[in-house]
Amino acid sequence: MKTTERRPKQRPRAGEVRLEGQPVSSGVAIGYAAVAHEPAPPPVDMARRDCDSAHERTRLHDAISRSVAQLGRLHDRLALLPEDGQVEIGSLLEVYRRMLGPSRLRRGIEARLEQGMLAEAAVMQETETLAALMLVPPGRPAPQGEDAVAARRRAGEFREIGRRLVRNLSGTPYRSFSTLPDGAILVAEQLRPADAALIDPSRIAAVVTEEGGSTGHTAILLRALGIPAVLAAHGLLAQVGRRTRLVVDGATGRVIVRPSSRTAAAARVEVASYARERQMLGRLRRLPARLSSGEVLTLQANLEIPAELPMVAQSGAAGIGLLRSEFLFMNTDTLPDEELQEAIYLPLIEAMAGDPVTIRVVDWGSEKNSDALSRVGIGNGGDANPALAVRGIRLLLQHRTLLETQFAAILRAAHAGPVRVLLPMVSLLEELQAAREIYARVGRRLRRRGVKIPDPLPPLGIMIETPAAALMTDVLAQEAEFLAIGTNDLTMYTLAADRAATDVAALYDPLHPAVLRLVRMTADAGLRQRRPVSVCGELASDPQAVPLLVGLGVRSFSMHASAVPRVKRAIRAAAMDDCRRMACRALEATDGQEVRAMLAQYAHTLQPPDDG
Ligand code: PEP
Ligand code: MG
Repeated sequence: MKTTERRPKQRPRAGEVRLEGQPVSSGVAIGYAAVAHEPAPPPVDMARRDCDSAHERTRLHDAISRSVAQLGRLHDRLALLPEDGQVEIGSLLEVYRRMLGPSRLRRGIEARLEQGMLAEAAVMQETETLAALMLVPPGRPAPQGEDAVAARRRAGEFREIGRRLVRNLSGTPYRSFSTLPDGAILVAEQLRPADAALIDPSRIAAVVTEEGGSTGHTAILLRALGIPAVLAAHGLLAQVGRRTRLVVDGATGRVIVRPSSRTAAAARVEVASYARERQMLGRLRRLPARLSSGEVLTLQANLEIPAELPMVAQSGAAGIGLLRSEFLFMNTDTLPDEELQEAIYLPLIEAMAGDPVTIRVVDWGSEKNSDALSRVGIGNGGDANPALAVRGIRLLLQHRTLLETQFAAILRAAHAGPVRVLLPMVSLLEELQAAREIYARVGRRLRRRGVKIPDPLPPLGIMIETPAAALMTDVLAQEAEFLAIGTNDLTMYTLAADRAATDVAALYDPLHPAVLRLVRMTADAGLRQRRPVSVCGELASDPQAVPLLVGLGVRSFSMHASAVPRVKRAIRAAAMDDCRRMACRALEATDGQEVRAMLAQYAHTLQPPDDG
């Protein structure tokens, strides 16, 4: 299919127009729109029932062979994509390939051919039926939240394979992006994942579409390719004409059509600074997290849902420092059993290829809520003060089968790579001892059954999230093999300010010296007892705060993957002596404001290191 700059049906308005779409892949681009049209297949007579079924079967089989060959060619292109793009599109191509094999879809289409339907009609009806079943499973409530996202994705996969078959049946060509001018901004009504895989990121400045969403395969792939992209920018095609200039901001979702000269000049500055930033962050990915004075630190990523894994790989994180396993219990009515949990942990551990994965057993209660747990009567029992009620380890020790199941699943998956097990919300030694006993018992039971699990068992550690735990770290560290400071909760409990309440937001300050003194106590006790100490609360994502935490004695940090490069940059610029001096001053400060001002001043005086 020829790609042309589109002539709109209606004359576009002159002057700058701003549209909002879904931000999908960050980055700013400025360039001319190139609209990629795709010829529609000819109309299909859906009502016919007098076709020669043998002939239609042959046509279908030919179309399937052509589709398989096309997918094979796409597969050959995989090596050109970035690593995480390869994973995303590779598994998608596998799904398509299976659908074209001896699948339910194929059986359904062939059954319709037996009724005398045209092959195109049979394909369209069957793929639409299966897509609809995904979206609204019969006799079950429509999926919600993450499940709804997965259902939409699956429905999209059926529709996509249906479109491919219909194109091949009718000989309608696909669009090609090879004729797009260099530096063009690709504009389309919609972009399928297989289309996105054909885009050469060195030639296309950005992608904007009328339709689509931020969670589908296309979005994931565009992010992996690093192309600034905004999807679902409604009204776009009506605005875009021949050589229409666009500014696309993939971080905010803003698309500016026909930017004024002032807007264009500002966008050019942003494009240049974004390019510099990317180059610098890209270089940082492979560099060690080493202070300018030589000490090497560990930077790991926090993971909330497995879909974030490609971001972890991109960030240069040395493992997962906190896998919050709450996602297993969200958007589901049923509790995840041992097999299901194992099947989820296993690929995560494998994907980290030898870097450690710290799995925190479920931390339920307080502000978090789960359908699956509520259904079996566990969790938020309407306490007046849920953060101070039964949550975290307290809840797990009251419902031990939950803990046993999770321990067993983690231990089963642990042969795939280094794993650590983390207990949330511990405040007493006896909680840790009770959990350790269960852990050992589950290990013994698995071994008796002949399951291969590591010997000794993977390290069992605790979150330091309460003042009690911080004050008693030296006692707890005799039983805990590692300590992870959760500054989010530690701040809440220390300052008695709810982390989620806006009316006390000003009181909630992780840089308050009271919190910092507890961090210092924990780090000192960890050092004395030779137990590794990390910080995995939000404070670890703050590039200004991390040098201070280093000065307080912390050597390992776990944060949202997107923060890793910036934190690494701050670390590489800082020197241990300065970190220690800052820590001494911060511990003596009167409030968080004073600490913050000192950190900002230090950040200002730092020279950027060689890498940027
Ligand atoms: C914390 O409390 O700092 C922490 C990391 O745990 P969560 O945010 O999941 O409560
Ligand atoms: Mg916490």
